[in-house]
Amino acid sequence: MLSDIVKSTTGNKCPRCHQGKVFENNNPYSFKNGLAMRNSCSACDLKYEREPGFFYGSMYVSYALMSGILIIWFLVDLIWLNMDAIILMTIVTINMLVFFPIIFRWSRLVWLNFFFKFDKKLRDT
Ligand SMILES: [Zn+2]
Repeated sequence: MLSDIVKSTTGNKCPRCHQGKVFENNNPYSFKNGLAMRNSCSACDLKYEREPGFFYGSMYVSYALMSGILIIWFLVDLIWLNMDAIILMTIVTINMLVFFPIIFRWSRLVWLNFFFKFDKKLRDT
């Protein structure tokens, strides 16, 4: 269900049990380990990287999310702001740089949720 995917993605939780964490730190902007992933779930022992290169596919999700930022800014500019193109592209680029850690994590978590379904029995045990 979509709410399970949203909960897992925004809460940095294992897609199968919603108990263990996927990334070491809940803060994506931590310089120390904000982008460091765990190998497996601490609660249900799910191995996150199913095969070598598994997370290359998350680049498609990342592309979609980054495009979302561009489209939102484009529509805001088209409807309300009417800025110069160079200013708009500067704002969009800054937005993409600022949101990169969140997009990176969410794209991997969404990608994991494509392949692992939430199992309510694992959460309740
Ligand atoms: Zn788990």
